[in-house]
Amino acid sequence: MTATVHGFQTQVTKLLDLLANSLYSNKEVFLRELISNASDAIDKLHFLSLTNQDLIKDDPNFKIQIRADKDAKTLTITDNGIGMTLDEANSHLGTIAESGTEAFMKNLTGDAKKDSQLIGQFGVGFYSSFIVADKVTVISRSVNAAQNEGVRWESDGNGTFTSENVDVPFRGTQIILHLKDDETEFTDTWKLRDCITKYSDHISTPVELYEEKYEAPKEGEDKDEKKEPKFEYTQINNAQALWTRSSKDVKEAEYNEFYKHLSHDYQDPLTYAHNKVEGDLEYTSLLYVPKVAPWDLYNRTNEHGLKLYVQRVFIMDKAEAFLPNYLRFVKGLVDTNALPLNVSRELLQETTVTRKLKKALTKRVLSMLDKLSKDADKYAEFYKQFGNVLKEGPVEDYDNKDAILKLLRFASTNNDSSVQNVSFDDYISRMKEGQDKIYYITAESYEAAKNSPYLENLKNKGIEVLLMWDRVDEWLMGNINEFSGKEFVSANSQDLKLGKLADEDEKKKQESAATENKDLIERFKKALGDKVKDVVCSTRLIDSPSCVISETNRMMTMQMRRLLEASGQTIPDEKYTLEINPEHKLVQKAYAEMDESRFAQWADLIYEQALLADQGALKDPSTFVKAMNSLLLG
Ligand code: ADP
Ligand code: MG
Repeated sequence: MTATVHGFQTQVTKLLDLLANSLYSNKEVFLRELISNASDAIDKLHFLSLTNQDLIKDDPNFKIQIRADKDAKTLTITDNGIGMTLDEANSHLGTIAESGTEAFMKNLTGDAKKDSQLIGQFGVGFYSSFIVADKVTVISRSVNAAQNEGVRWESDGNGTFTSENVDVPFRGTQIILHLKDDETEFTDTWKLRDCITKYSDHISTPVELYEEKYEAPKEGEDKDEKKEPKFEYTQINNAQALWTRSSKDVKEAEYNEFYKHLSHDYQDPLTYAHNKVEGDLEYTSLLYVPKVAPWDLYNRTNEHGLKLYVQRVFIMDKAEAFLPNYLRFVKGLVDTNALPLNVSRELLQETTVTRKLKKALTKRVLSMLDKLSKDADKYAEFYKQFGNVLKEGPVEDYDNKDAILKLLRFASTNNDSSVQNVSFDDYISRMKEGQDKIYYITAESYEAAKNSPYLENLKNKGIEVLLMWDRVDEWLMGNINEFSGKEFVSANSQDLKLGKLADEDEKKKQESAATENKDLIERFKKALGDKVKDVVCSTRLIDSPSCVISETNRMMTMQMRRLLEASGQTIPDEKYTLEINPEHKLVQKAYAEMDESRFAQWADLIYEQALLADQGALKDPSTFVKAMNSLLLG
């Protein structure tokens, strides 16, 4: 059989150009990727062999071997894992998952160092071989294939690869890198030992390097006599799965390197927690919080979940059943004796053990985050990346509602910036005497929230208000009622529930204001007609002439409205109650207008500017501007 020539998927070609030409710093990541792939291949076969010992009968000891040849300028990585068939090689080594590549391309910064670190994050691992090699040969035989059904795959990375069936006498995969002329340092055993140690110490399969064996001269032997150097494979890593070791014995750098292997992330994690639990439900968990959110955190396509091991044997990747959705950013693994080795994804969803583990692991993550929150800088870093995902928690996970609410942070009128660093506990500790509510406001943006007319009276009284402007905030606040016995009150709700905070004077003033301004209010009502639901005298305005109040949860309605409108439905306009500040100069000026048709223009202006401030837009802005100009000109 002669080799068939295949074209790479276009995206792969682009990627390969990039890898070969621009990513030259931090080249050694290719070793991490290839060792990682070899270890994955062995994990997969190990799993299959649990139910079918015969599969590995002729070669039972799993290992990864690395061998350099200085003369041939090659570096070969061999594993006796699951191997590949011809079809598998053609598809696995010729394409990349579309979304992953696109994201990779989009995330490129042009900074070679940063870009090279992105490799692996998007599953482009194998192609990193072309950073150091100008030709890559893959020899492989699938565990299910006969000797003459082996595969030879080869490419110089320039748009095409060839592949064919050949005789392969061993099971597994051999990657032969033909090193570029200036990359021969990767034939140096010292250099290799260094990299391999870094990338394989935590891997549970032995990784062996072919290196010169040093032999002490024997007694009576001539020291200067030239001897043929002896080479042999020596194991480099200690091949003990990292999470099975005692946390006392594992260094932070080892946890970090293991995280990179596990997650394909290039950065160290932000924090981690390693726990061994004995007793009824035995398990070990190693959980990490990444520094940076993945590009698809909010996509439906986002794949997440923990690696599952049963009695140290790898069972599956991305097992989603062990953590709730709002903790989907957590990476890591769980190893347990409590599940059968042949557990399937479907079965996982159903067993009580999974439910118990999920409960326990959720608590672990929440307490890890609680611990992290004691470090303000780190927690700020965390919150910027994952705060909005965490806000899904109190609704999704009612049992842990309070623990999650404790972890949330918001911007506040107490700060002078949009940084979200105020917790509900902080807020409560600063509450005024007599205050028993937590006041908040949701708006379209930080600026809109901060400058909202709804806050004027609260600000005047020195009452702190939490400022919110994320979509998820509207939804969250619409679904929770209280924290620590303190009711949440939206600053734009009809009744501000000031309670004891409204002093007697104020109450009296309000009552008298309502009677005193009866005429004024009636005039506005008449002028605006059925544009508004009602007109009332405001208790909350100080600097603004007016504001609008909705009966329903305002933000929820606006969101629903957007959704419905996007789906092509027409929705009747919502009618608001207009609140008027009778003390405001503009209102007084309007009231002084004797001509009823001009007063109607004033009334419109005062109503529509309240709408504008509330919603950031008007249905008919040009009529509004015309009316305003006419009034300005007098
Ligand atoms: P990823 O490891 O994220 O899937 P890679 O580019 O590193 O992406 O590898 C692509 C695919 O090629 C792997 O998913 C696997 O199916 C196959 N592969 C790579 N190396 C090996 C190997 N040593 N043994 C068996 N299959 C391999
Ligand atoms: Mg890989």
